[in-house]
Amino acid sequence: MLYLSTRGHPDRKRFCEILLEGLAPDGGLYLPERYPQVDATTLARWRGVFNCGAAGGYAALAFEVLSLYIDDIPAADLKALCDKTYTEAVYGTAAIVPLKQLDDGFYLEALSNGPTLAFKDMAMQLLGNLFEYELARRGEELNILGATSGDTGSAAEYAMRGKKGVRVFMLSPHGRMSPFQQAQMFSLMDENIHNIAIEGVFDDCQDIVKNVSNDLNFKRGFKIGTVNSINWARLLAQVVYYFAGYFQATTSDAQKVSFTVPSGNFGNVCAGHVARQMGLPIQTLVVATNENDVLDEFFRTGVYRVRASADTHETSSPSMDISKASNFERFVFDLLGRDGSRVKALFGDALKTAGRFELGSDPVFAEAASHYGFVSGKSTHIDRLATIRDTFERYSVMIDTHTADGVKVAREYLQPGVPMIVLETALPIKFAETIVEALGCQPDRPARFNSIEDLPKRVRVMPADTAAVQAYIVEHCPVA
Ligand SMILES: *Cc1c(COP(=O)(O)O)cnc(C)c1O
Repeated sequence: MLYLSTRGHPDRKRFCEILLEGLAPDGGLYLPERYPQVDATTLARWRGVFNCGAAGGYAALAFEVLSLYIDDIPAADLKALCDKTYTEAVYGTAAIVPLKQLDDGFYLEALSNGPTLAFKDMAMQLLGNLFEYELARRGEELNILGATSGDTGSAAEYAMRGKKGVRVFMLSPHGRMSPFQQAQMFSLMDENIHNIAIEGVFDDCQDIVKNVSNDLNFKRGFKIGTVNSINWARLLAQVVYYFAGYFQATTSDAQKVSFTVPSGNFGNVCAGHVARQMGLPIQTLVVATNENDVLDEFFRTGVYRVRASADTHETSSPSMDISKASNFERFVFDLLGRDGSRVKALFGDALKTAGRFELGSDPVFAEAASHYGFVSGKSTHIDRLATIRDTFERYSVMIDTHTADGVKVAREYLQPGVPMIVLETALPIKFAETIVEALGCQPDRPARFNSIEDLPKRVRVMPADTAAVQAYIVEHCPVA
């Protein structure tokens, strides 16, 4: 399997080459040259693999999916990596991603039972093991530099803690994360994890990461890398739970299901698109956004308009507060018949100069719904509160704010005879303030997080200064 860039660069690469890279050299995103097709026989076999494996079923299914895309890691090694990643010990349940039924044909798929209680663990835990494996094979080291306002940073740290050859330097805005999120990250005592609290806002953190990455000598000398959401391996890992959700909601491969996905950077739902292109019988992919409705606007009108920072709302589902959807280019590439030069004109040129492009009058736009199954909807703070309350009253199930956006929008697209699966992307404890506002009581807290706020913290507070962060990396990094 070879990978190409969405912007038409002639190079083709193998999986392990793009594993540690971010963007393609032309600024595009990597995609496989073609989507492997899962025929009826294979789908039936995979159902058996998933169902008969008990605790190992999910890991075995992951191995089947990943094998179709990764041919430069020996099968036995890839199998071992999957088995090590998807365990009951890490995810707290043998099913790894159990379905919870709310109503007849209406389900939540629990993706947030991993170490940081958000769905990003599903991919990041695999990435940690893949990085350690590939770096050891090459005899290299990597310093991951990232900026976070919460979920991504903690998922990356819990995935990379104690991994050989990897260090993490994670910048977060000082005093702006929730006490629970701060406790999650800052209580890690692993030598290779460095928390840096920047006196500023999230954008200041992100600017420092950009400045360091643009300092090419420093970047090369200190082997600076990232784990952001455009990484193909993360997206690939997420494809697996669409299959796992399907097998749990159906008894026969003749049935179809729909998924609703609380969306920000379009990484999660793009994995659903890949699963559908492989042949998984998905009827509809529902994109749910919050007040930051870049994606809902596109699927309704064909206009893709990135927002300025000032027009990006701070909401009570903060992990969906995006100004542009960084994985969206992958879907548009497929929508445009994989025309790299058109994608380059839209994402490389039009977005840069005008901040928008429009496909509404292009005949191909209708195919987003008719051929690719995409529809969308939007949810607001008031909707979120009402949905959390309603779900609790009707089913005694407490859902987090992001999942609530999904449940709200999913209800607009229910079809008789087609099970609807809403992806649960975080647990309520991560966003306690809004749960209290909705329900008047504190969310449940998994036992392993009892009094996490009282643990000792390991964090360095620093001014918003690129040179200071570089000096800190130099000081803590024996490479170069
Ligand atoms: C990251 C995140 C999302 C958005 O996922 P994308 O892949 O960026 O679309 C939704 N909910 C939660 C809880 C998240 O952490």
